[in-house]
Amino acid sequence: MPSLLRVEDIKKYFPVERGIFKKEVARIRAVDGISFSLDKGETLSLVGESGCGKTTVARLILRLLEPTSGAIYFKGQNISTLDRKEMFKVRGLMQIIFQDPFGSLNPRQRVGDIIGEALSIHNLAQDRRRERIGELLRTVGLEEECIWRYPHQFSGGQRQRIGIARALAVEPELMVCDEPISALDVSIQAQILNLLKELQERFDLSFIFIAHDLAVVKHISHRVVIMYLGKIVELAETEELYSNPLHPYTKALLSAIPTIEKRERIVLRGEIPDPSHPPKGCRFHTRCPIAKPECSEREPAPKEVTKGHLVSCYLF
Ligand code: SF4
Repeated sequence: MPSLLRVEDIKKYFPVERGIFKKEVARIRAVDGISFSLDKGETLSLVGESGCGKTTVARLILRLLEPTSGAIYFKGQNISTLDRKEMFKVRGLMQIIFQDPFGSLNPRQRVGDIIGEALSIHNLAQDRRRERIGELLRTVGLEEECIWRYPHQFSGGQRQRIGIARALAVEPELMVCDEPISALDVSIQAQILNLLKELQERFDLSFIFIAHDLAVVKHISHRVVIMYLGKIVELAETEELYSNPLHPYTKALLSAIPTIEKRERIVLRGEIPDPSHPPKGCRFHTRCPIAKPECSEREPAPKEVTKGHLVSCYLF
């Protein structure tokens, strides 16, 4: 079966300009040649520290940013070349859930208008709009009466549910969840994750789930992609990644998850290098606890170590 989404060698460089003539002096390589696919009904998580390029990938998929090069295929169609009008049709099938549920909702609009606006833009449920908004609110665990209330009258978790209802309104096939629980209390995070899982089963949704640590994605992901400085360093099925991590960066991220049993924490030295001047060779060599001299000479290519488990490191 063909993938729902296929990202092929996608790159996004942002120019750094200086002076009154805005001369380009450098390019920030936010995403530097990454490829992956997503199946129908699958959740693929993109994980890495801030600045690794995961949010840029999300925006490229939705065409909120134009790629520097590479291609994105959605349902077999190359959407990176579509014009605005053609992209509008596709965009209804792809929705985003934002990190900040308050900032992403218009504080002057009632909940009914926020969700109704999504229906209007895509000309959906014209003759039964009120009924459909009620249905959507119930689907995400809210009362129908919420229709008359404003975003500030809800808790963070409830506001995220409103954001999810708005995304569901247009009957998407792909949802990009950009750190949807990181602004919420820990007690609420599990409720939102469970809701997303329920919705996935009910509507056969596919998710790209963005997170900055591995603690939150284990129970929601089918596969996990680890990103570092604009590149994929490891990609594997969730079980495999958590039980048999190979890349030193993945091991460091896993060691940071709090557990009951004592586990040695791998503390990475130094900061993430400047993405406009990434280190030569393996991009992780400046922080890698087991780097060898040759690691700074050539960049390791991704290698499939076992079926579906890719790693970019000279040790494999
Ligand atoms: Fe570390 Fe070298 Fe592997 Fe890079 S290639 S992760 S520097 S051991």
